Amino acid sequence: MIIRHIIYNNFSYWRFNHIRAEGSYIWDDKGNRLIDFTSGWNVTNLGWNNREVNRAMVNQIKKNTYASMWSADPIQEELAAELIGSLPKSLTAVSRATGGTEANEQAMKTVRGFTGRKKIIGFKDTYHGESFGTLALGYLPEYAVTKAISPLVGGIIQIDFPKEGLDEFEYALEKILAKKDVAGIVTEASIITGWGSAYVAPKGYLSLVRRLTKKYGSLLILDEVGTGFSRCGKLFGMDLEGVVPDIVTFAKGMSNGQATIGAMVTTEEIARKTYDKTNLTSTFGWVPVSCAAALKTLKIHKRDKVWAGVDKKGKMMRNIIYKELKETPFFNEVRGVGLEIGLEFVTDKKTKKKNEKMVKRVLDKAFEKGLHLTGSPGDGVVQIMPPLTTPKKLLEEGLEILTEVVKQYK
Ligand code: PMP
Repeated sequence: MIIRHIIYNNFSYWRFNHIRAEGSYIWDDKGNRLIDFTSGWNVTNLGWNNREVNRAMVNQIKKNTYASMWSADPIQEELAAELIGSLPKSLTAVSRATGGTEANEQAMKTVRGFTGRKKIIGFKDTYHGESFGTLALGYLPEYAVTKAISPLVGGIIQIDFPKEGLDEFEYALEKILAKKDVAGIVTEASIITGWGSAYVAPKGYLSLVRRLTKKYGSLLILDEVGTGFSRCGKLFGMDLEGVVPDIVTFAKGMSNGQATIGAMVTTEEIARKTYDKTNLTSTFGWVPVSCAAALKTLKIHKRDKVWAGVDKKGKMMRNIIYKELKETPFFNEVRGVGLEIGLEFVTDKKTKKKNEKMVKRVLDKAFEKGLHLTGSPGDGVVQIMPPLTTPKKLLEEGLEILTEVVKQYK
């Protein structure tokens, strides 16, 4: 599809007109029904167009649709209370944002404001948003985007995400933190969801980062934009290791994609010491209709314990993929946490060079056969993240399409 009115970004290889969506299905303008294995990239975790969430939004429209930045509509207070009631008890102060990028920017401002230090650590090849600050966290200098728009925000130190073992990582991280000039570190809970590489950190990763940041007076910012809202088998990714960050950010699944919203949550102490110097204002942050959507979404996650079956479904999917594809020529591995799964292809099994072409072929062919997937071609990864409410049978149906498509390439 060529650009007519909408400026698309560049990561999708088949653009289509999305006409309708419900539960685990999407329909395009040619009448094709697609099984969805993307959740709009970890957004529609409860399934597309959840009716209860839509009704909550309609009810809010009848009451009030805007509150200024210097006031609060009761639904904002209610959402903040429900959110902090779902988090560890130290996290009690909420800042209103429109999405993940903005929430992460607020977090970056807050760690500098609180510590008086300038440096922030991010991980190479990770994604936290499209602003100059959040890009600096994970975009590599050699990326076309980085080259075209730099300089990005300064003071960011990019380090390697640990993929195998924690010893070297611990040594490298401690060396940087020990200088005591790092304001904070930005990371996801235990898996990279943002770029789609789906690299899983070794067990104990987040606890280690927590221990070292505490030791050297740096703050831990946990980006739960992708891992949050039951995606990884717990309500939040931080629950996987029981780690309590200083700051956590949310967006995407927060409103099930039914309204625009993001949030930064921190401690009372950090909020009190920083809010007057960081200006966390946002004209459209937490408009009441978005809050109604987010409040209902959170209540559904808790009422239905949406996270409960996620681990089992994820393991089932990974087992099927492994069993069906392990002997195929380009398969390298399948990895993941909960229903955040990465299927990695290489050009050959010895060099393990990432197979970008294979990813694009699989995405295209699967789409033709009625399965909607996305991924990170540069990482050789097809990313699988279906709505969490997708019945087992439909997951199996989608996997049949996927595995058949992969087997076609020799
Ligand atoms: N963090 C992560 C982990 C993400 O995946 C994304 C979006 N892909 C963002 C932050 C940015 O969120 P938004 O697009 O809502 O600004």
